[in-house]
Amino acid sequence: MSPVTHFLVGWMVANVPSRIGRRERAAIALAGVAPDLDGLGAISEFLTKHRAQPLLWFTEYHHVLGHNLAFALIVAAICYAVARQRRWLTALLAFASFHLHLLGDVVGARGPDGYQWPVPYLAPFSERWTWTWNGQWALNAWPNFVITGVCLLLTLYLAWRRGYSPIEIVSPRADRAFVAALRARFPLAAAG
Ligand SMILES: [Zn+2]
Repeated sequence: MSPVTHFLVGWMVANVPSRIGRRERAAIALAGVAPDLDGLGAISEFLTKHRAQPLLWFTEYHHVLGHNLAFALIVAAICYAVARQRRWLTALLAFASFHLHLLGDVVGARGPDGYQWPVPYLAPFSERWTWTWNGQWALNAWPNFVITGVCLLLTLYLAWRRGYSPIEIVSPRADRAFVAALRARFPLAAAG
């Protein structure tokens, strides 16, 4: 799945508890994108592709370095450390958000070349539990659009209802303006 979908799914997880802080929500939502940090090798791969010995960091490390249990534990520990309240809950939900990313990749991330990115869950310690699924759909297949669309609608609904959206991660001020605009368009009282 694309990082946008992963992020929105992570945002859903971050919204499971209604009383949690902005910082904690951000940590949980970003944990849902964290596995794809191993895809940053694409940059070096792209920049060196015309060299005699290109750095194949994307080919070699994407879905390997970040898509595993060890990294999930590291990310959960970081979330525990950055949280200021409800630390265990934050770490636990970050762990769940991270795992939904792995699941999303297993079910729907087949590349245009047909390559099924396996998820080596116990890497780098063991090659056992490498996840693949025969029914895996492509990265641009309709279920991914449906999931993205549903999460987006829920994100808007939650912003309207609860008064915050993912924009708060970047700017609480812009987020307040966004929520105010939503509520001006759809007055809260009308919901009954
Ligand atoms: Zn991924």
